Amino acid sequence: MLYINGEWRDTGNKLDVTNPATGEIIRTVATGGKTETKEAIESAKRAFEFWGKTTGNERSNYLFQVVQLMKEKTKELAETITLENGKPLPDATREVAGAIGYLEWYAEEAKRIYGETIPASAADKHLMVIREPVGVCAAITPWNFPLSMITRKIAPALAAGCTIVLKPADLTPLSAIKVFECFHEVGLPAGVANLVIGPAEEIGNEMTSNPDVRKITFTGSTRVGKKLIRDSSDTVKKISMELGGHAPYIVFEDADIDAAVNGILVSKFINSGQTCISTNRIYVAETVADEFSGKLAEKVSKLVIGNGLEDGVNVGPVINKVALEKVKSQVEDAVKHDGKVIAGGNVFTLNNGSGYFFEPTVIQNASDNMKITTEETFGPVAPIYTFKTEEEVVERANHPEYGLAAYCYTRDIGRGLRMMRALEFGIVGINDPAPVVVQAPFGGMKESGIGKEGGWYGLEEYLEKKFVSIFIK
Ligand code: ADP
Repeated sequence: MLYINGEWRDTGNKLDVTNPATGEIIRTVATGGKTETKEAIESAKRAFEFWGKTTGNERSNYLFQVVQLMKEKTKELAETITLENGKPLPDATREVAGAIGYLEWYAEEAKRIYGETIPASAADKHLMVIREPVGVCAAITPWNFPLSMITRKIAPALAAGCTIVLKPADLTPLSAIKVFECFHEVGLPAGVANLVIGPAEEIGNEMTSNPDVRKITFTGSTRVGKKLIRDSSDTVKKISMELGGHAPYIVFEDADIDAAVNGILVSKFINSGQTCISTNRIYVAETVADEFSGKLAEKVSKLVIGNGLEDGVNVGPVINKVALEKVKSQVEDAVKHDGKVIAGGNVFTLNNGSGYFFEPTVIQNASDNMKITTEETFGPVAPIYTFKTEEEVVERANHPEYGLAAYCYTRDIGRGLRMMRALEFGIVGINDPAPVVVQAPFGGMKESGIGKEGGWYGLEEYLEKKFVSIFIK
């Protein structure tokens, strides 16, 4: 289903949505391409004429109504996420809360878009900066957080007074449809938010080449992000890019080892490791490496793998066969390079042989020449490296291309502060494996991205700062 100019649209083209836990088709949805994307952009452009002029209070009211409705539909939304993405239902329920959190935060912020007065250099001048919505935005979102990645973009866009066209991941369009059902139910004016599902490249090309689109906001792979940046350059669009990561997780000998072990269960195994801020490389001080590895392997072996709709499941499937093959090949490569599997290590099948599961895995004796050391894993595999000195680990932790998230465990405050400065990443968790909150800026350095999402920083991305100089004589 597409949602253009306030109406649900069916087309002749179809896309099957599959449950990664069972391999079964859950639903078939209508898709559109260039024509529908163009239409959606035109509709967003017309809607911007009035939406951009509404008051913050008016926009806030709509967003708060969506918050209320989504709270009432939490169960239905969470089940949809689990069905199309595979993550366990409690994690999906947390994602719904997070998604609502963005709508709520920006419903509040919509009323607080201030301007500034700047001291003039002449007595007869008055200088101001006013903030105005950027205009029509195009958003492309991934499948790993099929709901919250959508509201993290749409909520600040609408709060700022922008209108939007969204293309969700073709693997997980059902959560997006649910969000748009909420927009429809609260009577969001036609054209303010539009949904296009269909062939990624065709839709992306229209979004990047259409001069009426003033901003592209994207979360996904660095490869696609780079293409979108290149393609947006002809019409000089504003861009926000949340791209890949390769997070190091450093455990010093003075760390609380149990806390560091538990942190991995969150940072590595939630969402089956399919999060851009997931830990990819665990660096443990040589002197505590055996203790850490033993404790981690024991805990990881107890994680329950299975269909996310079932009670007690900790780890669901990965998203599809391609993802499963990638994880498998990284583990095989690690073993070839003398990695020692101390938990998991294999493809896993449910009783009926269905689904794309990989056992939560811990690999000891990881080394810098393994694929897993540089390639993003996006799977439930935790490689453990050892190090001797702080200086050495900083150098190894900083990645030549990626700079999204890094974690560090230490009880020494001086060391914590030194790491805060030395780690070249946009998000640093010190003794904190889950740093993301709605009010803080989320975004990467280097090839991990451009721009921030979350908090006031996220709203600024959808606002132009217009400088006005008034001669007052
Ligand atoms: P992943 O490898 O995690 O699936 P992608 O970057 O391929 O990450 O996908 C993230 C989003 O980008 C999805 O919505 C996907 O459909 C979309 N996408 C993929 N290729 C293109 C493209 N060439 N142009 C625009 N969007 C794309």
